Amino acid sequence: MSFTLHGIPVSRGIAIGRAHLLAAAALEVAHYLVPLDKVEAEIARLEHAISTVVEELYAVEKQLSDDAPAEFAALLELHRLILQDPLLSVRPQQLIRERLYNAEWALTTQLNAVVEQFEKMEDEYIASRKADVEQVVERVLKNLMGTANAFPEPVEGQDEMIVVSHDIAPADMLQFKKKVFGGFATDLGGVTSHTAILARSLDIPAVVGLGMAARLIQQDEWLIVDGDAGVIIVDPSSIVLEEYRLKHRDLELGREKLKRLRGMASRTVDDVPIELLANIELPGDCEQANEVGASGVGLYRTEFLFMNRNGNLPNEDEQFEAYRSVVTAMTGRPVTIRTLDIGADKPFDSNQPSAAANPALGLRAIRYCLSEPQMFLEQLRAILRASAFGPIKLLIPMVAHAHEVDQALNLIEQAKTQLTEKGIAFDHDIPVGGMIEIPAAALTLPMLAKRLDFFSIGTNDLIQYTLAIDRTDNAVAHLYDPLHPAILQLIAQTIQTCARLGLEVSVCGEMAGDTKLARLLLGMGLRQFSMHPAQLLSVKQEILRSDTTQCAPLAKRILSATEPEKILGLIEKLRAV
Ligand code: PEP
Ligand code: MG
Repeated sequence: MSFTLHGIPVSRGIAIGRAHLLAAAALEVAHYLVPLDKVEAEIARLEHAISTVVEELYAVEKQLSDDAPAEFAALLELHRLILQDPLLSVRPQQLIRERLYNAEWALTTQLNAVVEQFEKMEDEYIASRKADVEQVVERVLKNLMGTANAFPEPVEGQDEMIVVSHDIAPADMLQFKKKVFGGFATDLGGVTSHTAILARSLDIPAVVGLGMAARLIQQDEWLIVDGDAGVIIVDPSSIVLEEYRLKHRDLELGREKLKRLRGMASRTVDDVPIELLANIELPGDCEQANEVGASGVGLYRTEFLFMNRNGNLPNEDEQFEAYRSVVTAMTGRPVTIRTLDIGADKPFDSNQPSAAANPALGLRAIRYCLSEPQMFLEQLRAILRASAFGPIKLLIPMVAHAHEVDQALNLIEQAKTQLTEKGIAFDHDIPVGGMIEIPAAALTLPMLAKRLDFFSIGTNDLIQYTLAIDRTDNAVAHLYDPLHPAILQLIAQTIQTCARLGLEVSVCGEMAGDTKLARLLLGMGLRQFSMHPAQLLSVKQEILRSDTTQCAPLAKRILSATEPEKILGLIEKLRAV
């Protein structure tokens, strides 16, 4: 039966494919497609894991002492029987053969189907046996995962798959950078949660905040993800499907056309040069940044190098290699490296979220780094060393207090001294900037400007902290409003103060990649926009069609308005000039 779910649109475009349900536990197993010539080996791998577990169970049974309760042996026998049941031993093999799923994926897919059957049973005893199936599968999975592979490239010609999950942690989302999936649908999440930001960076249609999608949608059901409208259509009729296929094709054509803008100079109609920079999470993202002709990297979120490493954090050399590879890939264009912004919705380990009551207000970003000076120094040395290979700017996240900046600057000096003593080259004049993402920072900019060389406005957090709404909480997502007059005032004031002081300023939050807001930001005087490469050419198209002399007076009127309807009306007017 066809039905529609409404959520929050976070990444544009249309995806059509089959649902792939991702249970929280299943996230720990690798999901990839096995090349055709490896199918038999994959089946053998599964068979081997199952038979190993059967043997293990026999061995445990044999070791039972004579006085062990009879239920123990019965339970072990039951587990062996479950394992040998065709439901678990044969069906996953079919999934490997027919759909090219890897063994872990095939097994968890079948587990979900079996568990669903158990849940439908009215007999309480039988229904409670689902736990036995789960335990047995868990054992096999553990056995398999000793040899688990990483994500290989997707196999051509397969139906696209849409990930449906209650939630996806940013670090897990990073796993999907290999683009095995065509779209995302999650129950939780807000527009600028880091998971949503990553979906946008992947340029994959995504809808979050769907509430019950993971419970209502079934494995393999056909889905349409409309990332523009924030809608998921489950089991669509053939007419709706056809309509969306046409839309999808139009969008693809539009994208192809945008590629022609790559080589054009980024200048407004009145010939004002506008810098369009890329936000990246991993060194590999530079490829996409280069493809769209970014004029540099405006935000490198280094924390992704530190996430989900089981406590095995990258040392100075590993960091240096990563930072150097970004600078080298950008061939002389500037790279802004942000120091570790760990905490809040980006914990070191996605399975161990922060225990703090309000992690977004806790030991995050520069606060964390200052509490771990040795770790911070290691990162600073790695960044400085990379600065010998190309222009780097150092960006400090979440600054608010003068003493925090002073401490950070002291540590930068210490890192420089340490390198100098060892005779290691670095850029002695490396610019150091701060993120404006706490209202206190925006309101006391001259105090920060005395200490720092440039600023970057992190609108995602600026909105979160100004309007007091958790950016990851879908219950308050409707209050996340970039056009709230308080937000507009803070952004405009920051841009104006920087202009007055002769300091560079960019916007690197999600507002910079929103084509609907490009003219407003231009009118406020912004000349540097940093966004995901996937958004860059659409923003460029808007820049090429805009005239700053027309944007400025309308932006001024927007800034003096306080009523939301009036602001929206003026934005529409601005977009139409
Ligand atoms: C921001 O807050 O706008 C920003 C760019 O940083 P992040 O999204 O990584 O918190
Ligand atoms: Mg931020």
